Amino acid sequence: THPITVIGAGLAGCEAAWQIARHGLPVVLKEMKPERMSPAHHSPRFCELVCSNSLRGTQLSNAVGLLKEEMRRLRSLFILTADRHAVPAGGALAVARDDFAAAITAAVRSHPLIEVVTGEVTELPNEGWTIVASGPLTSEALSTSIARLTGTEQLYFYDAIAPIVEAGSIDMSVAWRASRYGRGEDDYINCPLNETEYRQFVTELRRAEKVPARDFEKLIHFEGCMPIEEMAERGEMTLAFGPLKPVGLPDPRTGREPFAVLQLRQDDRHGQLYNMVGCQTKLTYPEQRRIFRSLPGLRQAEFARLGSMHRNTFLNAPRCLTPTLQFREAEHLLFAGQITGVEGYVESAACGFLAGCFAARLARGEEISLPPETTGFGALLAHLRHADDNHFQPSNINYGLFPPLAQRIRKRSEKRLALAERALRDLRAWWAEINPERSS
Ligand code: FAD
Repeated sequence: THPITVIGAGLAGCEAAWQIARHGLPVVLKEMKPERMSPAHHSPRFCELVCSNSLRGTQLSNAVGLLKEEMRRLRSLFILTADRHAVPAGGALAVARDDFAAAITAAVRSHPLIEVVTGEVTELPNEGWTIVASGPLTSEALSTSIARLTGTEQLYFYDAIAPIVEAGSIDMSVAWRASRYGRGEDDYINCPLNETEYRQFVTELRRAEKVPARDFEKLIHFEGCMPIEEMAERGEMTLAFGPLKPVGLPDPRTGREPFAVLQLRQDDRHGQLYNMVGCQTKLTYPEQRRIFRSLPGLRQAEFARLGSMHRNTFLNAPRCLTPTLQFREAEHLLFAGQITGVEGYVESAACGFLAGCFAARLARGEEISLPPETTGFGALLAHLRHADDNHFQPSNINYGLFPPLAQRIRKRSEKRLALAERALRDLRAWWAEINPERSS
């Protein structure tokens, strides 16, 4: 059998290679380290955690805890190795990063079906099943090759993430639904600010603590997705004439346009998540919570995700990829990890898991059954399939991405546990169908 190629031995690539080998198929894993290092990678080992050593929460009440549990049950290399190299971290799973990377590198290198080839891949292959898992800092030559395929409008080099609020936590006695000038449906949720509230908001944004940019991230401020605090710096009224402009948005309670309006746009298919328009930011997480919760209508806001801005290579997945992570116009190419628009260590590895399973089944000519959208794996894929392709931005896993429960549960923690229970039940049924070790 012709081997399947995996480009990049990071979090997604190692998991993908492992899953292909688990299906009994040969893999060639191509990695440019240590010959060439991205600006964030420093170790010669594979599966390098470039920043924090935390894989975040372990509780099932946290969606990333559920995703890890799903990966554990499906015997992901990433999570089983992480469990073996865990260090104490309260309610989180954190790992001894060097031991963790060394263990994954040893497992991958010693697998008889995985051949490791060192060197930068500069061109996408024209044929042969290939998984592109070259990450958020994909080398320039390979990015150029990908952009030739996708067109430059569908491949991004920075993310500009605005906070996402759980719809149920917005105070609708203050906010109202409407589109500007009444155009279209009532697509937006609008939060009114009077002059005092607006000026206070601008002052707080200017004063707030920011996450320092790394050297290779300094180019980030281009028009169109400038951080909100940067816009506030430009002038007292910049936001009121920009993303917070009130024109065409009269408050139904007064019939008048407020001094400024913060709009939130629906972010998911089920209408459970709303994106704060124009609020992409580099403020620290505690500052975001403090400042955004001071806005009218958002005092009790629960954030499914907070804002951030990074150097990040990613595709417009809803436009470019099929549900099985294949590139629409060149189906021999699958994408995995952060480059697809998932965000985070665990999410990248989970995406690699799926891409490995999908590629193996494609190579064998077998049918692919997708994980149910009620599972963490499925919810992650659903983001890549169904997110708004006009405003596509990467996402962490969060419970807002899951289809709502049939019954209404008021208490947040109970609702989340019910979602986790449903996920693990549906996962079992799906895996029973596609488990590569089923017949052996
Ligand atoms: P990577 O793990 O980066 O793997 C890609 C691999 O491909 C690398 O080994 C790279 O050397 C290789 N490669 C690239 N180009 C080529 C080429 N042309 N040929 C051959 N090989 C190539 N997520 C979190 O959850 N927590 C964090 O704290 C966190 N911090 C981050 C900090 C930074 C600076 C960045 C950029 C991202 C961070 N992320 C974090 C996001 C994300 O989870 C990680 O980037 C994660 O490693 C992504 O996994 P991946 O497999 O997609 O890419």
